[in-house]
Amino acid sequence: MESRRGREILDQRVPLISLRRVSRFYRPDRPALFDVSLDVWRGEFAYVTGASGAGKSTLLRILHLAEPSDTGALFVNGHDVAGLRRGAVSVLRCSMGVVFQDFRLVDDLSAASNVALPLEVRGASRAEIARRVEEVFDRVGMGGRGDELAGGLSGGEQQRVAIARALVGDPEIVLADEPTGSLDAFSANVVLDMLEDVSRRGTTIVLATHDRMLIAARPHRVIAFDGGRLIGMSSTGGACAPAARDAAS
Ligand code: ADP
Repeated sequence: MESRRGREILDQRVPLISLRRVSRFYRPDRPALFDVSLDVWRGEFAYVTGASGAGKSTLLRILHLAEPSDTGALFVNGHDVAGLRRGAVSVLRCSMGVVFQDFRLVDDLSAASNVALPLEVRGASRAEIARRVEEVFDRVGMGGRGDELAGGLSGGEQQRVAIARALVGDPEIVLADEPTGSLDAFSANVVLDMLEDVSRRGTTIVLATHDRMLIAARPHRVIAFDGGRLIGMSSTGGACAPAARDAAS
């Protein structure tokens, strides 16, 4: 935690992620994102909101460096991603955790094996994997459940495992795409409590949702989209960066 706090102090004037005039066209006549400029500040909790088709998932995929924009630039920690080597992009992606509406676990692997995957990809030692997986299972309230098959867990439990997988590498940022969209109200609340706890510990959260009641119940900064265009930003919620720091160009 101390090293994370140190990084925050060092980098506080540089947004964690910046988009400048980013557009994404799957079809030439209808942009999924159009001319979007915004900053995501270290440590903030931000909602990306808008109706279905507004461009939320496209934005999250671009923030996750999972796909490029067609025009514009993306900066991470002030570095233009277009100028980075593939290895550097992989390292950046390792500093991000992702959570999806449909969990995206491997059903016939144990919950613990699912969570271990990102660490295995990075070549972590067995001992470190075991330690970190146990820690993160405790953190999401799934202690002692790691041997169970992921596919046999309830939706709420699967999403907790997916959050554990997102957190196991100690990410700088968690990108969550409609993480409560498939859950009952109780499980949705558990998942949101968890993400708010992650945020309080200093991790940046960007959560895409079309659910206005969720946003009203748990106020944080809102970044609103319609038809691929950024239509508004608020700085609701105490922990958010002031609106004046938002990207203007
Ligand atoms: P949201 O997450 O807000 O529902 P999306 O980002 O999924 O919105 O989609 C924005 C627009 O881009 C929609 O019109 C959608 O049909 C289109 N789109 C998204 N992904 C693709 C894709 N892979 N291929 C073609 N069109 C896509």
